[in-house]
Order: sequence, then C-alpha cells, then structure tokens
Amino acid sequence: MPNARQQVIGYGRVSTEEQENNYSLDAQRSRFETLCKQNRWVSLGFFPETGSGTSVINRPVLCKILERIQQGGVDGLWVKETDRLSRPENLGDLSLISQTLERSNTLLMVDTRSLDLREDNSVLMLDFEGVLAKHFRRQLLRNMNRGKTRKAEMGRKAGGADIYGYRTNEQGEYEIEPAESKVIQLIYQLYIKDHTLRQVSRELQRRSIKTKWGRESWSVAVLCDVLQNDIYLGVYRFRKSKHGKDVDGSRYKIAVQDQIVAGSREKPNHPPIVTPDMFELVQKKLQTNRRKNSTRLHMATGLLLCPVCGSRMNVKYSSAPGYRYNGLRAAKYTCLKRPGCRQNRIPIDETNDRLWGALLEVIVRPERIQDLIVPTPETDLTGLKKQMAETEREERTLKEKQQRLLDLYLEGNIPQASYVVKSGQMEAEAERLAQTRATLHQKMASHGKKGVTDGLVQTLRLLARSHRRFTEEQKTKVFRSMVKEARLSETGVELEMYVQATQNVWWKYRHKAMRQPTSAKPNQTVRVRIQQSAPDNHLYTTGQAAQMLGISTDLLLWRINSGKYPEPPKTNGTHRRFTHEHIQKLRAIPHGNR
Ligand SMILES: [Zn+2]
Repeated sequence: MPNARQQVIGYGRVSTEEQENNYSLDAQRSRFETLCKQNRWVSLGFFPETGSGTSVINRPVLCKILERIQQGGVDGLWVKETDRLSRPENLGDLSLISQTLERSNTLLMVDTRSLDLREDNSVLMLDFEGVLAKHFRRQLLRNMNRGKTRKAEMGRKAGGADIYGYRTNEQGEYEIEPAESKVIQLIYQLYIKDHTLRQVSRELQRRSIKTKWGRESWSVAVLCDVLQNDIYLGVYRFRKSKHGKDVDGSRYKIAVQDQIVAGSREKPNHPPIVTPDMFELVQKKLQTNRRKNSTRLHMATGLLLCPVCGSRMNVKYSSAPGYRYNGLRAAKYTCLKRPGCRQNRIPIDETNDRLWGALLEVIVRPERIQDLIVPTPETDLTGLKKQMAETEREERTLKEKQQRLLDLYLEGNIPQASYVVKSGQMEAEAERLAQTRATLHQKMASHGKKGVTDGLVQTLRLLARSHRRFTEEQKTKVFRSMVKEARLSETGVELEMYVQATQNVWWKYRHKAMRQPTSAKPNQTVRVRIQQSAPDNHLYTTGQAAQMLGISTDLLLWRINSGKYPEPPKTNGTHRRFTHEHIQKLRAIPHGNR
C-alpha cells in the first residue's frame, strides 16, 4: 500500500425494499467515514444513491463516479459490499466497472479490504462475492421470516408499528401504555354510552386527544378498527390480512387463513385493556348500527360515471328524516364533483336494475357482443396505424444516433464512461420503442377479430347458465368483476367490460390500482353499448321477455299458465306484452324447479 494518503470515493446505494437495518444509507455513510479516519484516507466524498436501478446505466450517481475515476487521481472506490455496486447476475456490469477501475489504477475497496482488479484473482473473487452476497441475503430474509413466525407464536410483536394503547419492550412483549390505554377505554365507554362513531370522534377532538400519528381528528374508520380489535382483550394476531394480486396486477386485500393467534379472552397473551363484556356490548352495537346504515357493496359504486361531467359516482345515503327504503336510509348514486356538478342524485335500485338488465342482454346472447362493441381509440385502426408509423420513425432516428455515438467513441472523441451512460440511455429508449411497437402490433393484429373477446364470451356463456339463480349480492359481484365503467344515457347503457373477469370487486382497491401503475399488463377492456328504451313505456313480446329472463319461451308460457308467474297485461286481447317492470317482478320470483 502506498505511503501517500489514499484518495477514496465512497459509494452507497439502497434499494427501495431494503431501506431499513444496516443497509441504510446512513449506516453505509458512517461506515465509510469511520474507515477514512482509521486508514487515514482522504475522502473525496460519499455519494449515495437510492432506488433499485438494476444496471449501472440506471444509476446516474455511479456513472458520474466512474467518469470521475477515468479522469485519474482516485486511488480507491469504496463500497460496503460488492452488491452495492452491481447485482451479481449482471456480470457485464461488474466487468465494465472493473475495467474502468483497472485502467485508471483504482482499487476497489470492499469495506476493509482492497481489491486490485489487475490481478485476475481479485476479479474472480469479486464476481464470486456478488453471487454469495445474493445467496446470503436470501437466507437472511428466510431466517427473518422464520424468526418472525416464532416470535408471533410466542405472542410477541413480530412486525409493524406499535398499536395504540400498548407499547412493546425489547423482547417484543406487549405492555400497557398508561395514557393511551385510558383513551382506548374512553372510546369504548363513549360508544357504549350511546354515542355514534362521529360523536366519539368529536368528543376526542374536544378533549384534544391526538391519534397515534399526532392527528387531531379520529376518523370513523380508525375508531371502528379500535372497537373491533380483540388485541385489547389480550389476543395477539399476526398476519391478519394480506394482499392478493389480480389478473391485471392490481392488488386487493384478502382474508388470511394462516394467521398466527396467541392468547384468548380466557387466557390473555398480554394485559387486556377492555373487559370481554364491554367488548361484546360494543360488537352488538356495531352490528345493529351497521344494519341500519348498510355498508354493503353496491352494484356500481365508483364504476358509474356521471352523465353530466363524467366523474365517478359514489353511493350516498339520504339524511332526510323519515326517508327510508326497506328500513334502510335511501341510497342514491351521487356525483363526486357535487355540489359543483349539477347532476342530481340518481336512485340506486332503479339504476341497478337498468345496469344489470344491460349486462343481462350480453349474458343472454354472448355472440352478439361483436356487434355491440363501440369503437374507441384502442380499436380504431387508422389511429393505430398512425401511431405505428410514428414509432417506426422514432426508432430509425434513434438507430442513426446510436451509430454516431459509437463512431465518436471509437474515434476516441468521448470517454468510455460517458459512452456507457449515453449508449445505455439510448438502449433503454430503444427497448421502450420496441415494446410500444409490439403492443401496437398486437392491437392491430387483434383488430376486428373475435380473439380478444373469446374469453369474455366464454365467461358470459357460463353466466348464462346460472344467472337465473343469482342473489342480489351475487349479481353485484358479477357485475363488478365484469365491468370497469358504466355510462348511462337516454337511449341505453355503455359498459366498459373486462376481457378477463377480475377478482377485485372493491372500489377502494381498484382506485389504488389506478393510482399506481404496475408492471403487469392492464386487463384489456371492450366497450359495449346496449340500447335500452325508457323502461316505463317499452313493451316486450313473450319471446323477448323469455330471452331477458334467460329461459325458453315455452318455459315462460308454462309458468304463466300454471300460475307460477302472474299474467302480464294483453294488448288487443291476444298478445301478451311485458313491461320492463313486469319482467323485473318475474326475475324476483324464486322457484325451485331444479
Ligand atoms: Zn357530475
């Protein structure tokens, strides 16, 4: 090792998934500073980078450092571990880095060791270490999971933040947090004392009691969680819920079967804050209130678009006293832009009938879907062709640029590191363009072909066999798994239908999925327009009515003649004419014919 003090650059990186533990940037930085002092290195700075860019070209900071090293005068590049530099599987990256270091006589310093990459031995070591690091990381994660499970089984906190009302000691055991546990008891008491959740929230605010995160207002959802969490009875649960992944890559919450439970009401895992009697009382009250307000899933919450402004519509319950429907407060679809939007609230039952009716038209005759499809930008062939031409033009220009860059590099006009950076960027751009072209190509190929809707038609056929027996709840689920968006118009209904049915029927998770684009390809949709005459005055023939009910004409007539179905009014004395309302009535009649 030379006598003169070594000039060393430190490089740190942390990917998004490993922000914690000793991988943190601060840990890497302080390690670098310590070693600088110990070894009397001259620090040329510690340069951190975040993000999980998989290759060197996606890490601008590292690229800058390599350029700096090429200019000479740097004795060492320090990293805490080799996998900070590059993913072990990217041997190409590693050799690029080692080449740069080698040529400029720069040592690679991995924590306390210096590697001279001019010696083959070290290069091999470096590659090898990369692979090992990955292996150990995986093992570490596995051990961590095993450790967590064991901890949870012993009733100790195995992950996540402390819950309001408790704190955990070093062993992860739950201990009562005196001030917070008083608040928990207060919440239970207030709710039992005939306060509503909103009133409880207001009372807490009045007493200036803040939430776990220092917020001044307690949301109804948080209060609801507090009132339902049996951790306050001394029961510890680990892995209460997890997220499922839908066909289009969006995530949604699902119940977990393999949750770990420690302790029970009778044999608490940790000191309870509320008594079982209190807890039971609260559960009963929550249940009755829930029935009153009904938080059930509605057919088109968040899927229905406002006829006036096109924004989403949600369900609101009428607050007018005495305005009840089936014992429930009347629910209506309401534009989210209200009061800014002039669209009135839309009665929910009528609308649901209309929407289900529209879906039913497609279910009953799936093969018709091809005729009902509305052209959209996605299906517009000339538009696709234009986009394709544009993409191809961009690709040609990029190729020329890449060639010019290579020429410059070969002629020695630009340094290697900047060549790497620039060519990398261009490579990425080329890849993006190639992908765009492939998608466009696929869209053009599937244009006007049945292929796209084949899966959809299959699903619809399956539904056609069973839709007669659907409960209201099942109808809602089916509708929501098939339909992405619904628009109402004077003459009918437009449904944006998923080509592949989704699992995720809850709006709040869909909403999330839309905000965060995922790498999975989005679920393709087709837009179909179903003509509907105004429900009140249109009259259907017996054949049409049977079709809408999904049964044969003969069966419908038999049911009417045998008195199972009420007789519809006849026009001109002979022909039966079914109103929309009458068909709805028939749909609601249960019959055990199987
Ligand atoms: Zn609106």
